[in-house]
Formats: sequence, structure tokens, C-alpha cells
Amino acid sequence: MTWDARDSGAAAGGEFQSPALERLVRSLQGLPGLGRKSATRLALHLLDRRQDATELVEAMAEAAARVGHCSVCGAITEADPCVICSDPRREATQLCVVASPVDVLPFEKAAFYRGRYHVLGGLLSPLDGVRAEDLPFDRLLARIDEHAVSEVILALDTSVEGETTALYIQRLLSDRALNISRLATGIPVGGALAYTDEATLQRAFQHRTGLGEG
Ligand SMILES: [Zn+2]
Repeated sequence: MTWDARDSGAAAGGEFQSPALERLVRSLQGLPGLGRKSATRLALHLLDRRQDATELVEAMAEAAARVGHCSVCGAITEADPCVICSDPRREATQLCVVASPVDVLPFEKAAFYRGRYHVLGGLLSPLDGVRAEDLPFDRLLARIDEHAVSEVILALDTSVEGETTALYIQRLLSDRALNISRLATGIPVGGALAYTDEATLQRAFQHRTGLGEG
């Protein structure tokens, strides 16, 4: 039997006569981009395909138990420190600062960068209430001092938030003797560093713009 959201009470804005199904819908409804209608459709789809649902539950439980953030760089990892932070062949004096853990992926796929990363986990955004104390700038400073970092490359989006964050880091590092640079243009505006192709990323890296010595 196939359930369909159109036949259900949910289509009319009502609730199912099943607390278990209502709980599932409410859980899914909390996910990004899912309203009540999409959550209902997804819940019914999962009930139709119990095998998929079981696999999903197991995958989520395993990921929740094993996946975390690297305590050094903030990247997504199962081991702590992550493989990049614990690889002696990766240059510890060169740090690429990115906003999100997914921004590390195109660099690693392109495989030209031999330094390490610092993942901020967000960008400064006064409008959204993201302030400097909400991001790990203290950890960035500690790494810079501990490993005598000589170059910081800002690989941040060219959005208002990216610009604000870049400027903040530039000021933060102004009394330290290191080179600060930004990726050259060619990275799409407003987000999409993670979706930039390898050639564009490498070109933007090679032509990175020096912001002067701190
Ligand atoms: Zn790491």
C-alpha cells in the first residue's frame, strides 16, 4: 500500500491519528527547508520503504556517534585531531581560513594546497547576531603564535559577511609579523566556495592578493 500526503488529513492542515507518525513529521519539520507539507511527504515515503528508513536511522546514529569537529582546525572528522592537522607533511606555518567545513573539500579535491586550515564555522554577521565572540578567533590566534604561522590565506566568500570577517581578521592580525592574503576574484559572490571548480580555485589561490604584512 502506498500512502500519499494528498489523501491524508495533513493536506487539509489536520493531524494524523498516530502520535508516532506525528512525532516523525515534527522531527523532520525541524530540518532546513522542510515545512509541514514536505515533512509529511517524506515521513510517508519512509513508511512506504521501511528498508530505506532503517538504513537512514542507522546512518544517522553512526554519524552522530562518530563524526565531530577537529579540536585544532574545526574541520569535520572522525579522528581528533583530523588527518590534515596530524599530517607532518602539511605545512603548519601556512593557514587557509575558511567559513565552513565544506569549504575544505574543494581545496583537498584540487590537491594543490599543502598548508593547513582554520574553519571558522560561520561568518561575522551583525544582522544575524553572529559576533566576534561567537567564532573561534581566539583559537586562530593561539595557533598562529604556537606554530609561528607566516602566512594566513583568507578563502572567504565575497559576500558582505565575508568582507566583514576578512576585515576583522586583518585588524586582529595587524600587530603580528605575517603575510595575509585573500583569494583572487573568480569565486562566485555570496556563497559557493564549496562549489567552485578546481581550476578556478587553483587560479584564485595562485593569484591571491596580498593584504600586506600584519
Ligand atoms: Zn584539523
